[in-house]
Amino acid sequence: MQYHSTRNNNICVSSAQAIKQGLSEEGGLFVPETFPKVTLDEISSLSVKSYNERAYFVLSKFLTDFSDEDLKNCITNAYTKEKFGTDAIAPLYKLNDKVYFLELWHGPTCAFKDMALQILPYFLTTSMKMTNEEKEIIILVATSGDTGKAALEGFKDVNGTRIIVFYPDNGVSEIQKLQMVTQRGNNVSVAAVKGNFDDAQNGVKKIFTDAEYKALLDRNGFKLSSANSINWGRLVPQIVYYFSAYADMLASGEISIGEEINVVVPTGNFGNILASYYAKKMGLPIKKFICASNENNVLTDFIKTGVYDKTRRFHTTISPSMDILISSNLERFLYDLSGCDDKLITELMTKLNTEGKYEIPDSIKAKMQELFDADFCDDKETMSAIRKTFENGEYVIDTHTAVAKSVYDKYVSRTGDSTKTVIASTASPFKFNQSVLIALEDYNYVMGKDEFELLKLLRDKSGMKIPESLAELKDRTPIFDTVVAKEDMENTVSDFLKVE
Ligand SMILES: *Cc1c(COP(=O)(O)O)cnc(C)c1O
Repeated sequence: MQYHSTRNNNICVSSAQAIKQGLSEEGGLFVPETFPKVTLDEISSLSVKSYNERAYFVLSKFLTDFSDEDLKNCITNAYTKEKFGTDAIAPLYKLNDKVYFLELWHGPTCAFKDMALQILPYFLTTSMKMTNEEKEIIILVATSGDTGKAALEGFKDVNGTRIIVFYPDNGVSEIQKLQMVTQRGNNVSVAAVKGNFDDAQNGVKKIFTDAEYKALLDRNGFKLSSANSINWGRLVPQIVYYFSAYADMLASGEISIGEEINVVVPTGNFGNILASYYAKKMGLPIKKFICASNENNVLTDFIKTGVYDKTRRFHTTISPSMDILISSNLERFLYDLSGCDDKLITELMTKLNTEGKYEIPDSIKAKMQELFDADFCDDKETMSAIRKTFENGEYVIDTHTAVAKSVYDKYVSRTGDSTKTVIASTASPFKFNQSVLIALEDYNYVMGKDEFELLKLLRDKSGMKIPESLAELKDRTPIFDTVVAKEDMENTVSDFLKVE
């Protein structure tokens, strides 16, 4: 299987090269040249298989240059009961006869980023070996919270790599900050940037595009790489859990083979929902994709009108991992819908860069609207979805999953569609304990209480176990206290790598 760039069909690389490189040189994203087809018989046989066997089934169809042994090693190292607390890895929770939550947050950092970032380091080191890369890989991350911690956990102590995470000084939650500054590992570093997420992100982008600095790193035996969701190595593991959810529904007799389901995904960068679309392209019976946004509803508007317009106010919401106005993975989706029209994609992405918006042709819009539905909700509706789900089902969901639930409920009242539906549950409610408890109780209830009191209150209310990785933060001493000006990020990298 070869990979093309969404902006140049003549580019043709192996999966190892695509994963090592992250982004194609002219700015396009790597996509597989075809989508392997699976039969209903094969899907049926997955129902008696473990998560790791299901992962092997899907991943081996894309990473065809990986040896069987290498691929199996990547999978067994990434998805263990020790790291995920359950053999199911991504268990399916049945709310009622229509609605199922696909719990993607059992990994070490309590958010769905672990599903990809636990395996990416193994993909990357295997790809380096396969392409005879001798340099040490330096992963640079700017994070608004979830990605930084998940990348640190994934890359800690992985030979041949080092990781540096920058987070905005006052832009992450207390739990998220504690998770990062107490990170252990012999190859990790964390620094706060004086500024907001954009400052951190721009600083990292600057380092990536500074040719002189890259040459300096090169001379010292280092190569920069990225762990964000444009990397094919982060997207492909996400296809697996949609097959796994379907297989679980078959195993428990909730559906019969071939029966179509709907999928609802709380969306930011469009990676998770794109993975479900790719699963359908491979043959998984999915009828509708419901794209759920918070008040940053740029995707809702796009799916309804065909106009993508990022020139709008940015909202800070209680579902911060979806506070995003540029959904990078949409590029892969449009490439696919347009029949791999690299010229059109280049044109649209240039327009996005220069004018802040673009409009897709009617034919592509029609295809999109046939499969995709979209809606959004505000913080109040998010809170109300958390409360209602608890009252009606005794089940507690986090703020991101609640956006999906709220949008799903609106979809059902609008369409009457009674298809069985899988909602992607993207974070543990404990990770956003404050907002969740305000929803379940009220504002006064949480006022003046610290994070660890709140964890216990949420445990008592929900009957769920506090994730070990959050509870133990209380006794961890912070290791990283560096705060840097946004102009000094390059120096921070140099200090860490001891280059000058
Ligand atoms: C990253 C994230 C999302 C958005 O996922 P995309 O793949 O970027 O669309 C949703 N919920 C949580 C909790 C996340 O961390």
